[in-house]
Amino acid sequence: MSILDVKSFVAGQWVAPDEDARSIENAVTGAVLGRAGNGSLDVQAMLDHARDVGGPALRNLTFHDRARMLKALATELNAHKQALYDLSFATGATQADHMIDIDGGVGTLFVFASKGRREMPDSNVYLDGDIEQLSRHGTFLGQHIATSLHGVAVHINAFNFPVWGMLEKLAPTLLAGVPAIVKPATATCYVTELAVRIMLDSGILPTGALQLVAGGLGDMLDRLTCQDVVSFTGSADTAFKLRSSDHIMRNSIRFVAEQDSLNASILGPDAVPGTPEFGLFVKEVHREMTTKAGQKCTAIRRIIAPQSHVDAVIEALGARLSKTIIGDPKADTTRMGALVSNSQKRDVLEKAAIIGAHAERVIGDPDNFDVQGADSTKGAFLPPMVFHCADPDTAIRVHDTEAFGPVSTIMGYTDLDHAIALANKGQGSLVASVITHDTDVARAVAVGAGAFHGRLYFNNRDSMKESTGHGSPLPHMVHGGPGRAGGGEELGGIRGVMHYMQRTAVQGSPDILTAISKTWVPGAREIPAPAHPFTRHFDDLDIGETIHTDPRTISLEDIEHFATFTGDTFYAHMDDAAAKRNPFFPGRVAHGYLLLSFAAGLFVEPNEGPVLANTGLDALRFMKPVQAGDSIKVRLTVKHKTPRNDEYGEVRWHATLTNQDEDKVAEYELLTMNAFKP
Ligand code: NDP
Repeated sequence: MSILDVKSFVAGQWVAPDEDARSIENAVTGAVLGRAGNGSLDVQAMLDHARDVGGPALRNLTFHDRARMLKALATELNAHKQALYDLSFATGATQADHMIDIDGGVGTLFVFASKGRREMPDSNVYLDGDIEQLSRHGTFLGQHIATSLHGVAVHINAFNFPVWGMLEKLAPTLLAGVPAIVKPATATCYVTELAVRIMLDSGILPTGALQLVAGGLGDMLDRLTCQDVVSFTGSADTAFKLRSSDHIMRNSIRFVAEQDSLNASILGPDAVPGTPEFGLFVKEVHREMTTKAGQKCTAIRRIIAPQSHVDAVIEALGARLSKTIIGDPKADTTRMGALVSNSQKRDVLEKAAIIGAHAERVIGDPDNFDVQGADSTKGAFLPPMVFHCADPDTAIRVHDTEAFGPVSTIMGYTDLDHAIALANKGQGSLVASVITHDTDVARAVAVGAGAFHGRLYFNNRDSMKESTGHGSPLPHMVHGGPGRAGGGEELGGIRGVMHYMQRTAVQGSPDILTAISKTWVPGAREIPAPAHPFTRHFDDLDIGETIHTDPRTISLEDIEHFATFTGDTFYAHMDDAAAKRNPFFPGRVAHGYLLLSFAAGLFVEPNEGPVLANTGLDALRFMKPVQAGDSIKVRLTVKHKTPRNDEYGEVRWHATLTNQDEDKVAEYELLTMNAFKP
């Protein structure tokens, strides 16, 4: 069989491996499958290409443009996923594993594409939080903004997820407007290379937005600046070596790390054998031990169960694991494939031996297990192994040794505090799960263990059908963890994008902030509307365009009519004496919703026109009571515009209601969908 030459993509050119290349093993046969690496890669040219070509092109696009790009990339990868599946079997992964790596990676792109359109502006300045009032009269304000870094993101990935591992970093990076240089782990870089080729061949990305290093990075990290980011997934040792380099430290170069993690799963004290939770617990542990042959950063390494149920868990888990067919990942019957390489297998056995010095192996024998459809002496196969640690309070190695394979340790706890203490002994993990139907148990674990874990996953009979699994990082939720897990965060929705942007506090007048943020700020110049704004199309409306309505006096009849008509006869609107006893009211007052309804009556233009729908109202505040005899009027200003599709966009209006004394009585933001010009 011919050997794959895995190429790098350097400043627009594919570069083949040279004599410095490392060979790559087929996980299933142990044979050499390919080679990767080139000792004379021009890493400076890569950095220059990203910074000078890719970065400016990406920064010219708005968040919405970039989000559309992510969606197109996801669609393209989806169309080619069979080729990715076919290649991935050589990594030891089964079809079910591919679904996590390949489909999961594509899904992550789709989620960021959708979040980029829904939660970010159609602009290249992101607003972080609300306006801060820094002055008495509102002429000097503050706003945090985020803008794209001007450098490059260097992504260093682990071997276990050659596609998802790349895409979960690439999606937030590209959405941030930053070019990426992806360096996959050599062991599985041939799969990443194919995914990169599919994306580049599609022509969707601007030139310079994506480059690939198959093999070593040379001295690239020593050439980074404060505008660059390193995002790393892998071992704690490598992370420490890279992040503690003189150059990285001296230049405060951002280093996001996701590394070893001894994730725990706690069986709640209520989840006794026979409950749905007990069965669920065993199922989740089984899945985490066998998916990707346990080579998952989120896999359950420590099984924490009530002391009295440890034997029952071992028995139920043993029964499930004994039915797990290990073998050729291509076979439909196979439930667990091979580890990535024989060297990884040796590493797992070494780590298992360390754990074995403090715990007894109760399930699985690496010297005696069945492998179907493959040669167990050549491929990197191992059986699932469960150790029982009788003294988890003193046997610290079971809490700090990550055997990155199908290996887990079960330990008993005496009470919930003990379970929490054991979970926290991992000194920082990506995820801890708790299988319980008792809400008090969940609350106690959240408070007692939250600080040690990046994610807490609770599951029980109510959520088990729809839950996503202990081990699945979701693009919407934070992935990362404190301490041993690296201290970094990835994903987490738009939070994940911020790793590649700079947050800047901007201070200035309302007009200055309006110009920067493309969002009208109270106090900024009002643009008199040339016609009623409801008669103007989305594209014609200017930020700051304003109308002021005529006043309307509110009568007691109005209040009583509204009360009987709606059924809202709350005493503050109906009973003057009762209202006076309430510290908020001077006497009978108008309903807040009456004010809103009258406001709409004041500003709405009734004829058919470009306003298609009223889709909501945000940030409503009633500031001062309105009584019969008072009058209200409205100022309505175009605050922000967000295109939604080719036909219409969302207009956010700032509405202020004032009374006859110019006091604000209510304020809110109104959302409408407005048509584009035909
Ligand atoms: P490594 O830390 O060895 O490698 C991770 C990445 O770093 C790879 O892309 C690797 O490239 C790269 N790398 C290694 N040395 C350097 C360097 N000097 N400069 C730049 N890049 C470098 O982890 P592995 O992937 O080999 O996995 C080893 C162990 O890491 C596992 O056994 C497991 O314990 C842990 N791990 C933990 C994960 C987690 O998220 N918890 C995920 C994956 C692994 P190359 O492959 O070319 O050496």
